[in-house]
Amino acid sequence: MFSLFPENDYNQTLRIKRFLIAFVAYIMWNAIGIASYALGLSKAPLSVLIAAVTANLFVNVLLFAVFRTGLNKKANDPSLTLLQMAIATFWIMVVMYYADESRGACLLVYMVVLVFGFFRLRVRQFLLLSLYAWVNFAAVIFLIYKFNPESINMKADILNIIVLAMILPWFAVIGGYINNLRTNISKALTTIERLTDNIKDVIFVVDMQMQYTYVSPSVKSLRGYEPEDVMKQTLADSFAPSSLNKAVKTLTDIMEMEKSGGTDALERTLQLEINLKDGSTVWTETKFSIVRDKKMKAVGILGVSRDITERKRAEEQIEFLATHDNLTQLPNRMMFSHLLNQAIKSARRNKRQFALLFIDLDRFKLINDTLGHDAGDELLKEMAGRFRQSLRAVDVVGRPKEKGDIVGRLGGDEFIILVEEVTDLSHVVTVAQKILNTVMAPMLLFGEECRVTSSIGISVYPRDGEDEQTLMKKADMAMYFAKEEGKNNFQFYSQNIQSQSYERFAIETNLRRALEREEMYLEYQAKVDFKTNTITGVEALLRWKSSLLGHITPTQFIPVAEETGIIVPIGRWVLKNACAQNAAWQRQGLPPVHVAVNLSLRQLMDDKIIDDIRNALDESGLAPHLLELEITESMIMFKTTRLLEVLTKIKAMGVRLALDDFGTGYSSLAQIKNLPIDTLKVDRSFIRNLPEGTEDKAIIEAIIAMGRTLSLNVVAEGVETPEQEKFLREKICDAMQGFYFSKPVAPEQFAELLRKHNTLF
Ligand code: C2E
Ligand code: MG
Ligand code: MG
Repeated sequence: MFSLFPENDYNQTLRIKRFLIAFVAYIMWNAIGIASYALGLSKAPLSVLIAAVTANLFVNVLLFAVFRTGLNKKANDPSLTLLQMAIATFWIMVVMYYADESRGACLLVYMVVLVFGFFRLRVRQFLLLSLYAWVNFAAVIFLIYKFNPESINMKADILNIIVLAMILPWFAVIGGYINNLRTNISKALTTIERLTDNIKDVIFVVDMQMQYTYVSPSVKSLRGYEPEDVMKQTLADSFAPSSLNKAVKTLTDIMEMEKSGGTDALERTLQLEINLKDGSTVWTETKFSIVRDKKMKAVGILGVSRDITERKRAEEQIEFLATHDNLTQLPNRMMFSHLLNQAIKSARRNKRQFALLFIDLDRFKLINDTLGHDAGDELLKEMAGRFRQSLRAVDVVGRPKEKGDIVGRLGGDEFIILVEEVTDLSHVVTVAQKILNTVMAPMLLFGEECRVTSSIGISVYPRDGEDEQTLMKKADMAMYFAKEEGKNNFQFYSQNIQSQSYERFAIETNLRRALEREEMYLEYQAKVDFKTNTITGVEALLRWKSSLLGHITPTQFIPVAEETGIIVPIGRWVLKNACAQNAAWQRQGLPPVHVAVNLSLRQLMDDKIIDDIRNALDESGLAPHLLELEITESMIMFKTTRLLEVLTKIKAMGVRLALDDFGTGYSSLAQIKNLPIDTLKVDRSFIRNLPEGTEDKAIIEAIIAMGRTLSLNVVAEGVETPEQEKFLREKICDAMQGFYFSKPVAPEQFAELLRKHNTLF
């Protein structure tokens, strides 16, 4: 289908429109010609009129064809203004020839036509056109003078020629000036357009009624709207609800300040959330400043908005990093403290109670020491995930201590949980129970299946305290108590715990001086062989009688010694003394027995452990096979190369190895199969309920069978009654140790026992 205008060519369409306006003028001009002829006002012959109108139309159709085919674009000035003006000039001159008395009027019309040229032609083109018009006019006058002398008005026409000659160059200069101005303006506009197009910031202006009066094209890429669409919007459409009030208030403030004559820089920068076309929002930093006219009167406000999504995200990230533990992504102490204080406020207001649960992983240190910190980190991450999953949305879990800040006493294995809206303490019990179970579920750590347990201390607001510090301290104390109660359990805070925890503190301070004050000594408990009924071994058990605290049991002070590391020198002392004692018994001519010494993980991991053992043997002169070292099952949970190396070295020295407290640490046959051990010591907890406890009975039987398969010596610990002894004897256990036969006693008493007993049998 034919159309007047080309598609998608804005400039060409504009040119054709302009041409069509001129064309309409031609048609009018022709109509006037025809009308004058009909009224007998024109002297032109009919042939001239017809030829003129036809040529006129032909030229215009030709011009249109040039525009429509786009040929005009090849010209210097694609609007073809000069050409069109030249044609018009020629045409007017033709009319002028026949115009007679109305020649002056025609000249006037021509002036009007020339004015159009003002806005489109350059000075040089204008001068050329002027010269051309002037020559045409002079020629017309000359022709009239030659062929139609009676219609000439010599004076008036000469004046017309002079006027034309003077006016046209003047037109040219003004036209040129205006044109220059126009080009400069359009150049400046294009530059501005190009700038605003390329600037990602959105620039906009609102008037004093807060209506948009300008929006830069960049709004399209920021918000998805065309600038024209935004111009129709109100501020409420533009700003997200979160920011609308802030924006409007700032704008009003600026306007108010302006009205009250404030002369200081009326500028504000805000972070505002802006609505996007797709319904989402984006964060911007928007700078508002006042716009004044020439008279310094405020006419509006200029806004420049910059997308700060990235920055905002980075800020949030930094904020998150500062408030969260970066290993587990849980709230850190600072953040947790903030949340806790809020919980306190809200509980106080609503007269509610809440609970604080301090969770400490029982074997965390062990994992850190044996499998390394990477494994420890892995475990913490896993636990954090489990806690997060098993809590209600209102509960908060945090990690109060980060790895770095506790060196000696505890690893960063503590978690806190804030259980809010507690109406009934049974709910807290449920949570605690759930946590204990969650922690216990086995996990794979570097290919090793392992289990950890946890100890939980609980304090309750407002019962146990009404401020952060007290609540934290009491939950912490309760947690220690839970640990001392044998781990894998939870404890609510109570007065009783308070005193125990002071005790613990006292133990720690006094323990440091115990060795040099010679407050430590050893007791010896016999091991009896079922087959021969003779004492074949003896276990050295550490005792501490503090001058200040009195008798402290190993279950009280050994954990403290382990945590503080004091166990290393103490353990060395035990080893040395036990060996020396056994050697002394040998020298007294007593039957040979092996002496068992308990080792802590800390000792086993100590670089000097092999030297310590060798020294103890060398100094005492004890035969290596008369020394047995007891390690607990929990220590071999992970068979690291380092651990295996140490055990193998000990074994190579001819020293015996026993696995103590067996059955408490979930070891499987597979786990102990390759260990260089000689003895399995079945934990007391399994013996306690014998022979009634059916489950324990089954376990004991299984352990004995297992020991047999691995050719190990199976020893039952804590045998207290004849029934227990009978049961074990029947099950063909190898040996027993317990109060039934002998309590741990002083060396002299043991010597006595050994002499009497072993000579009896
Ligand atoms: P363990 O190595 O399992 O020692 C056996 C514990 O059971 C001893 O407790 C012993 O007194 C107790 N026991 C023995 N027979 C019976 C019985 O028939 N009934 C009851 N109820 N208990 C019995 P003790 O001496 O209080 O030592 C506790 C733990 O402290 C030891 O458990 C051991 O793990 C640790 N320990 C003791 N001395 C040392 C030491 O020199 N170094 C290290 N690292 N740990 C030690
Ligand atoms: Mg032991
Ligand atoms: Mg034991």
